[in-house]
Amino acid sequence: MKLCRTCKSERLYVFLELGDHPLANGFLRADQLDEPELRFPLDVHACLDCGLIQVADHVPAGYFRHYVYVPSASEVMHDHFRGLADRLAPLALASPDALTIDIGCNDGLFLGALQERGGRTLGIDPATNIVELARARGVEVVNEYLTPELGASIRDTHGPASVVVTTNTFHHVDDLDAFMEAVGALLADDGVFVVEVPHALEIVEQNEFDGVYHEHVSQLTVKSFVDLFRRFGMAVTAIERLDVHGGSLRVFAQGEDQARPPGDVEAWVEEERRRGLFEAATYDAFRERVGRLREELVSLLGDLRASGARLAGYGASARGNTLLNYYGIGPDLLDFVADRNELKQGLYTPGTHLPVVAPERILEERPDHLLVIAWNFADEIIRQQHAYRAAGGSFILPLPEVRVANPEGT
Ligand code: ZN
Repeated sequence: MKLCRTCKSERLYVFLELGDHPLANGFLRADQLDEPELRFPLDVHACLDCGLIQVADHVPAGYFRHYVYVPSASEVMHDHFRGLADRLAPLALASPDALTIDIGCNDGLFLGALQERGGRTLGIDPATNIVELARARGVEVVNEYLTPELGASIRDTHGPASVVVTTNTFHHVDDLDAFMEAVGALLADDGVFVVEVPHALEIVEQNEFDGVYHEHVSQLTVKSFVDLFRRFGMAVTAIERLDVHGGSLRVFAQGEDQARPPGDVEAWVEEERRRGLFEAATYDAFRERVGRLREELVSLLGDLRASGARLAGYGASARGNTLLNYYGIGPDLLDFVADRNELKQGLYTPGTHLPVVAPERILEERPDHLLVIAWNFADEIIRQQHAYRAAGGSFILPLPEVRVANPEGT
């Protein structure tokens, strides 16, 4: 019997079956295109007690050792991590030896910003290739999967942490119990744990089925945080709403004996209940909307293509690969996918085999329409593409509703 990863309930409701998908970050080299691709079913269920959305099918962790997402490719994420460093500075710089640990530090963008402000930092990240980018930024990184044993040994060598941060990582973790044990080992008794993740409420209400892929094993609600932390002697002390990644939560937690009164946490949980996150009907309606959006977008692209229009995509994101694979959008509809991330350029999208190219190609080839696959960064992408825009190019946004935008023409 499968249990909810956070609250351990058995009331799991399977509401979305997206079919067999390759790993969303499994971009391919040209010489791999003829080889069979590993595919895993992508079935999604919701916990009717805490609202956690989780992927039913587990992929062994070793597949994720080489990672191609780097936030520094995005200006929005630069601003975001500078903002986080400012927000946490009063905690992280409280004393000269205060240590801040970032679990899943990726390319070190946040810790680099904190170091510039005088903070003492340590990163932990299992992705070997990305860790080199963090080290090049001057950030010390332990290149391992976080386990309770590693947490204890880091505490021995570096001392307890005043702040433990994990951004855009928590929903990747299969064994949250082991992760929380490790956080407990790292954190000082009065330390603060800060987590940023997409909010399951946004995912449901903004039709963000594309946020579901094998690396994103959970999508959390406030209720799921409260229930999980309680099992580890911690309490949620504050919650902030963020705009990144299509709507995220920043959750602060401390040991229960340290915690201040819970403030508005109960109000968040009540809001989640009011908006139906603990009811099966909400997820049935979500499945129907996702099916309708798929039909709308695929027929729009098909009609444009049939009329002779040239189409390309923007944003070779992991979540975009859920959308491309579930919708079946491949080279028959799009000529290429542009992306600023040089690690992805020259590769092909998993499953759909679209070539990933540098954004300069957009002006060279002038497609009539650009499908903004990374629609959660649409504002930034449309702003950057001013020359394409000025030349009359149009943008198609797939979610939260299908929308055609030509900012110059309208
Ligand atoms: Zn649950």
